[in-house]
Amino acid sequence: MTKEVSATSTEQNKPAGTDEPPAVPKLPHGLFAETVRQAPIAIAITDNKANIAYINKAFTDITGYTSKESIGCNQSMLSHKQTPRKVYDELWSNLEQQIPWRGLLLNRHRDGFPYLAELTIAPILNLEGETTHFIGMHRDITEVYRLQQQVVDQKLLIETVVDSMPVATILMDETGRIVLDNQAYKKFHSDLGLREPLTIFLEILQEDMGDEWGQLKNQGLGFRNREVRYDRGGKHGPRWFSCSGTWFSQGDGSVDTFFKQNAHSYLLLTLDDITQQKKNEAEIRFNALKALMAEEEKIQSLKETLLGAMHHIQGPINLLSAAKTMMERRGAERQNPALLDILDQVLAAGEESLDRLKQCIPEVEDVAMSMVNINQILHECIVLLTQRMLSAGIVIDWKPTPILPMVMGLENRLRAMFKQIIENAIDAMNQSGVDKRELRISTWPDGELVHVCIEDTGPGIPESLNFKVFEPFFSTKSGGGRRHSGMGLTMAQEVINQHMGLIRFDPSYHYGCRVHIQLQTHAQHHTGQRPYAYG
Ligand code: FAD
Repeated sequence: MTKEVSATSTEQNKPAGTDEPPAVPKLPHGLFAETVRQAPIAIAITDNKANIAYINKAFTDITGYTSKESIGCNQSMLSHKQTPRKVYDELWSNLEQQIPWRGLLLNRHRDGFPYLAELTIAPILNLEGETTHFIGMHRDITEVYRLQQQVVDQKLLIETVVDSMPVATILMDETGRIVLDNQAYKKFHSDLGLREPLTIFLEILQEDMGDEWGQLKNQGLGFRNREVRYDRGGKHGPRWFSCSGTWFSQGDGSVDTFFKQNAHSYLLLTLDDITQQKKNEAEIRFNALKALMAEEEKIQSLKETLLGAMHHIQGPINLLSAAKTMMERRGAERQNPALLDILDQVLAAGEESLDRLKQCIPEVEDVAMSMVNINQILHECIVLLTQRMLSAGIVIDWKPTPILPMVMGLENRLRAMFKQIIENAIDAMNQSGVDKRELRISTWPDGELVHVCIEDTGPGIPESLNFKVFEPFFSTKSGGGRRHSGMGLTMAQEVINQHMGLIRFDPSYHYGCRVHIQLQTHAQHHTGQRPYAYG
């Protein structure tokens, strides 16, 4: 039969209303001792010098020492002697101040092998407040530590591998926070002159991929080798990156996900700098482009010559035609049939010549519109004209907006137009008397429009001629080492009209000439509306 006893005899007749804790309910005799004996954690009770007075079963299981072998021995028998001295000093310093100590010690099993002990030691005080005993509780955490180390080592290994990868790698959580990045990505900060390059890349990719971005994200899929062009402008050439991304879900390891799955989505993005490869491709492309443009210029020049000739023939024909009409209006008696006949023959010959010339004008082949990157074709024009600008001592200030929406257009025609306008600027500055020679080209988006501004420091165009310069065969230039047919801006206007855009000279600009061009982005292009005039 179990005898009911209270925990302490002093608590039995405690007066009501005192601060004393409530009396412990009566427990079966020996329950405390049995609880300690069976507790699944190694427990040792020592005197105040750490000499062992009692051990439980788990102590034997963990250390290998039986009661017989350990009682009377000092706890130091468990020391592996690798634990640094200062750990023991701290342990004893705590205990001397009657403060429990918690920490990790390297212990030696009875059989000689080491194990890692997670230990709590607390002083046990008598009624006078003196430490009479210590209770030590420990568990073997060798396996937990090994697994933890494995995770840490694996993380370190992954970080080292990711860090040494030549491709910029970023792991981003769903809030846009960078969870992991590598050295190659960190280098972008200085190379691209951006505080957080990821923001720009995400913006460009999302703009480029449109709805597809959201669809891939929702399905936990990814994209591969999307090319992104980043043009910082100035003396920095454009940079190209091949971007790949993968979305995946992962628990975040917080305790609230212990029983309930709460996955978060991440984006792993790699940005491979393919600028050199692109430069090589561009060189090949430029050579082809040069040949193509030379051919197109030849055709354009032939077209201008023929139109010029027609223009010159048309003048006298108009005069003769007017003369004939006047003669015909006169009375029959005053008419000179022979002269009229000659006039008819001359007019017919003239019209026939005009017709022949018209038939000789080369046809422009119909090509379909495609997505055009205005920054890219302006950059191509600059490269094509670099030699001319260098020999004319012209400094170029190229300021593109790095993210420019695509324009739906005829790439070759737009390139020829921009080249024409830049050549006009070069010619204007190449005239004698122009000391400051600066060409500024900038681009920027504005809602559904793309703006291009080309400024030079030449003599400029008088305000009265701002519209006239677009007329065929009108030219303000004579020098500059080039033949001026007065058809360049007419062609530019024609190309702009084809693209439902706007071109104008800024009358408020007085430091040279400023051409302002507006083109519609591919999104606006489908509406078929003309852009509003800027400024
Ligand atoms: P020291 O640290 O100098 O210890 C030698 C012995 O001197 C001590 O064991 C103790 O008997 C005595 N001593 C030293 N300083 C004081 C002091 N300020 N007050 C009273 N006595 C002192 N160590 C382990 O390595 N593994 C364990 O699992 C472990 N469990 C312990 C459990 C309890 C309850 C206590 C009280 C101590 C325990 N220790 C344990 C500490 C252990 O007593 C030793 O301090 C430690 O092992 C280092 O031993 P040492 O021979 O290198 O030298």
